Amino acid sequence: MKLSGVVSFVVLMTAQISLAANCQIALTGNDQMKYDKASVTVDASCKEITITLVHVGKLPMAAMGHNVVISKEADKMSIATAGAGLGAAKNYVNASDAKVIAFTKVIGGGSKTETKFPGSKLKAGEKYVYFCTFPGHFAMMTGTLIVK
Ligand code: ZN
Repeated sequence: MKLSGVVSFVVLMTAQISLAANCQIALTGNDQMKYDKASVTVDASCKEITITLVHVGKLPMAAMGHNVVISKEADKMSIATAGAGLGAAKNYVNASDAKVIAFTKVIGGGSKTETKFPGSKLKAGEKYVYFCTFPGHFAMMTGTLIVK
């Protein structure tokens, strides 16, 4: 094999890796009321985006429940405030609120949850956030969702 063939093969592989869109929002939450990431970047071209939340703590849902809610940054406060009063049965989120782009159910320590939503709900350049709507958590448990 000639050197030029090897080089073009490597270039091609590199291009494929950089083109691989990230369509995953993978987070963990712990007993210290924290997610493991301050920001997540997903690709605007994603057909479907998967949210995965793993609660790596030990506390039960009633004491330290976590979920992941996605919205525009400007809508976070109203969603969190309204959600806190809805109770665990509704995952502390108003599912019929159009401002809620996506959400997972609330889980306790040692549990895992996953949900999917259409990537078309997100647009590059808009300011998005993810946060936990368990009462009292949204100020600590929040991060920036970057769409590229
Ligand atoms: Zn939480």
